[in-house]
Amino acid sequence: VSNDFDVLIIGGGPSGSAAALQSRRAGLRAALIEREAFPRHRPGETLHPAVEPLLERLGAAGLLVSANFLRHEGNWVKWQEGLKFVPFGRDARGRWRGFQAWRAVFDELLLNRAREAGTHILQPCAALKCLFDGGRVRGVFTSQGKMQAGWVIDASGPRHWLANQLGIEIEKHSPRLVVRYGYARGECPSRDEAPAIVGDDSGWTWTAKVLPGLYQWTRLSWDGATVSRSWLPTEFERLTPAGPARRADVTWRMVAEPAGAGYFIAGDAAAVLDPASSHGVLKGIMSAMMAAHTISTIVRQQQDEGTGAGEYSRWLKDWFTTDVANLRKIYAALPSPPAWVAHQ
Ligand SMILES: Cc1cc2nc3c(=O)[nH]c(=O)nc-3n(C[C@H](O)[C@H](O)[C@H](O)COP(=O)(O)OP(=O)(O)OC[C@H]3O[C@@H](n4cnc5c(N)ncnc54)[C@H](O)[C@@H]3O)c2cc1C
Repeated sequence: VSNDFDVLIIGGGPSGSAAALQSRRAGLRAALIEREAFPRHRPGETLHPAVEPLLERLGAAGLLVSANFLRHEGNWVKWQEGLKFVPFGRDARGRWRGFQAWRAVFDELLLNRAREAGTHILQPCAALKCLFDGGRVRGVFTSQGKMQAGWVIDASGPRHWLANQLGIEIEKHSPRLVVRYGYARGECPSRDEAPAIVGDDSGWTWTAKVLPGLYQWTRLSWDGATVSRSWLPTEFERLTPAGPARRADVTWRMVAEPAGAGYFIAGDAAAVLDPASSHGVLKGIMSAMMAAHTISTIVRQQQDEGTGAGEYSRWLKDWFTTDVANLRKIYAALPSPPAWVAHQ
C-alpha cells in the first residue's frame, strides 16, 4: 500500500483545521476531507481568550481579531447566589477578552488558513468507510474515492464517526443530556457586554450576544423538560426567535481508545461535555494539535507508535476525568443539584 499522505484528517471544524495546521508546521503531507460545503452553521460561538495564543502557534495569528468578532471580558454567573461578573483575568498587556466567533465565518477562515498552509482539501467530501491493512487503519473510502495515509485523524465531531467504524466503546459519564438552543433577533442591552449563565432548580440557561442584533441561548434541564419551538429565555422576551429551537445530545462521553493502530481521534469526536464547561472549541483545537504533534514525533523522530498512541490516550483521559470532576463539583453547588450528581 503506498501512502499518498502522511496524515488524513476527517472533518473541517476547528479541530480538523487545527490538526491540519499543526501537521503542516511539522512538515507532514496533510489531506483533509469535509462533508459539508462552507459556510455551514454550527453552535458554539463563545471562545475562551486562550484560543488566540493557540492560533498564533498554528500560524493563524490575528485571524480572530481580523474577523472583527464581538469581544467580552468575562461572564455573568448566577449559581448559588446573586448574579456576579467573573472576569477572565489580566496580564501585562491588559484584560483578557474572549470572542463571539460566528462559527460559519470562523470555521471557514480557519479551513482556508489550513489550505494556504498546503493542506490538500476535498470539500464536500464525506468519509464513508474505513480502509484497513493488516488490522491497521490505512485510510478512508470517501464520496470521492479511496484515500490512503500513514495516519488518520478523526475530527468529525460529536457523532464519533471513526469510533463507530472501529466498534470502539463510547463511555458515558452522565445520564443522557440534551440541550435546546436557538437564536433571537433584536436588542437586549443587558447582554451586550458579556454572556450570562444562570442556574435554577431544574438546570441552567446560557445567553450571549453573538452578532450585532443577534443573540444565542442554550437551555439544559435535568428533568428532561423540553421547551417549545418558539421558547425564549425571560431576558429575550422582547426579541424575535430567529428560526426554531434546536437540540443537541451533550451527554458527557469519551471514546474508550482515542488512539491506536494508524489513528487518532480529536475534538468532539473524542470527547463531549455539556456546554456549561463552554470550552469545546478550545479543547478541540488543543487535542487536535496534540494528536498531530504526536504523529509528527512518530514519523519524524521514529517514536514508537504504541507509546505515542498510549501517551495521547492517557493525556486525553486525564484531562477529561478532571473536567468531569470539576463539572460535577459545579453542579453539586447548585441549590437543587441534579439527582445524579447529588447521589454521588
Ligand atoms: C448548543 C451548543 C453550544 C455550544 N457552545 C459552545 C461555546 O460557546 N463555546 C465552545 O467553545 N464550544 C461550544 N460548544 C461545543 C462546540 O460546538 C464543539 O466543541 C466544537 O464545535 C467541536 O469542534 P470539532 O471540530 O471537534 O467538531 P465540529 O465543529 O462538529 O466539526 C466536525 C466537522 O466534521 C464534518 N464531518 C462529520 N462527519 C464527516 C464525515 N463522515 N466525513 C467528512 N466530514 C465529516 C462535519 O461536517 C463538521 O464540519 C457548544 C455545543 C453546543 C451543542
